[in-house]
Amino acid sequence: MTEPARTEPLMRMRLRVEQDIFVVRQLGREVARAVGLDQQDQTRLATALSEVARVMLATGTAADVAFSAEPNGVPMLRVVVENPLSAGGAGLEPQLALVGRLVDTMEVGDGETGTVVRMARRLPASAPRLTPERMDEIRAGLARHVPGTPLDELNVQNQQLIAALDEVRAQRDDLARLNAELEETNRGVMALYHQLSDELEETNRGVVALYAELDEKSVQLRAASEAKSRFLANVSHELRAPVTAIIGLARLLGDASSEPLSTEQHRQVDLISGSAADLLTLVNDLLDLAKAEAGRVEPEWSEVDLRAVFGQLRGTLRPLATRPEVDFVVDEPSVATVRTDEVLLTRVLRNLLTNAIKFTAEGSVRMSMRRVDDDVEFTVADTGTGIPPELHERIFEEFYQVPGSQSISGKGTGLGLPYARRLVGILGGGLRVESTPGQGSTFTVRLPVAPS
Ligand code: ADP
Repeated sequence: MTEPARTEPLMRMRLRVEQDIFVVRQLGREVARAVGLDQQDQTRLATALSEVARVMLATGTAADVAFSAEPNGVPMLRVVVENPLSAGGAGLEPQLALVGRLVDTMEVGDGETGTVVRMARRLPASAPRLTPERMDEIRAGLARHVPGTPLDELNVQNQQLIAALDEVRAQRDDLARLNAELEETNRGVMALYHQLSDELEETNRGVVALYAELDEKSVQLRAASEAKSRFLANVSHELRAPVTAIIGLARLLGDASSEPLSTEQHRQVDLISGSAADLLTLVNDLLDLAKAEAGRVEPEWSEVDLRAVFGQLRGTLRPLATRPEVDFVVDEPSVATVRTDEVLLTRVLRNLLTNAIKFTAEGSVRMSMRRVDDDVEFTVADTGTGIPPELHERIFEEFYQVPGSQSISGKGTGLGLPYARRLVGILGGGLRVESTPGQGSTFTVRLPVAPS
């Protein structure tokens, strides 16, 4: 019959007549206050309790109310209103649905064994600890409690109503203020959004215009580059014949069968001859480069025997490596054949080897090759002057020569490397350099074994 409470109830009372509704209401508020619930929660609990009492009494029989506090775990105030004599099935649950909102948990047992309503409200963290002594104190306090008259209770209720109305008004004002702030913020966000989308649109327009300009510029650039290549090709082609003629004439002048020349005349004819030879080299290099740039170099693909290529380079370049302080080594190739253009590949390698010999005073110049994945790499490594890192890309520009770099033999045109890189590109590969000033350089040609 009694609620199996974990602790001895704080207070019990019996509901018999309508007036007890006021009493239980007061008592509920008292208990709530004693265990540490705040003013609002006291009112909530008292209201819930008086509502439950009203509904219970309406079933026609008396009911028992027990208040207990649970000090362990989450501290709770529990109230059980029990009417074991009621027939059950009175259908109280729908009537008490709203009341449930005033407390944390509410269960309505509405069965054959009677009617039980259990309610619980969590105590705030600020509530005093419910030690056994405190519980006894509360029990004693409640026992001394003298219920007021219904009029007293009406007064208290009125006070509470006024406080509740005040609270509602304050909350409504707060809500209105929050709404106004929200609206203001929304307006700000919208303004920012509009501004941002305007700016974005503006930027987009700018980017589109920039792209259009860029396209136009690259068309112009391509046209200019083609014009330059055409011009170079034409000029160098036109220059070749007269320069060759000058070389021939100079040779004739110095020939033994011609009229003998004075020593000074000999020297001058040699000068003419030397300058013309330099000019011819330049003209030839220019013509080659212009042709490669204009896309007029068509590789002739075949399975190239690398041993033959290496042998030929070894033979033709050894005479250039005249310094006894420099070891000139061409290793045996580790791959037998590569599908490429033999003439172009030979040109590139000869170019790199000539440079290495030109810029190496002592140590070694070595050419070797190896397979790397689906590619082959040819390396020409020397222990010569080396190239500062910031110029590693510049040396591939036309006419660029490293300032102050001392060539051992010949002046050079500054066209060899750009040409070599073009040719390697045409063969489907790449040409790169690693070099440290004072230590030497390694030029690497990477080509696919089977170009598509
Ligand atoms: P050239 O050799 O006719 O001057 P290149 O285009 O072949 O023209 O080379 C450009 C420049 O790069 C050279 O003038 C030289 O300064 C530098 N260079 C090329 N190869 C080497 C090398 N093996 N060692 C040091 N410097 C080099």
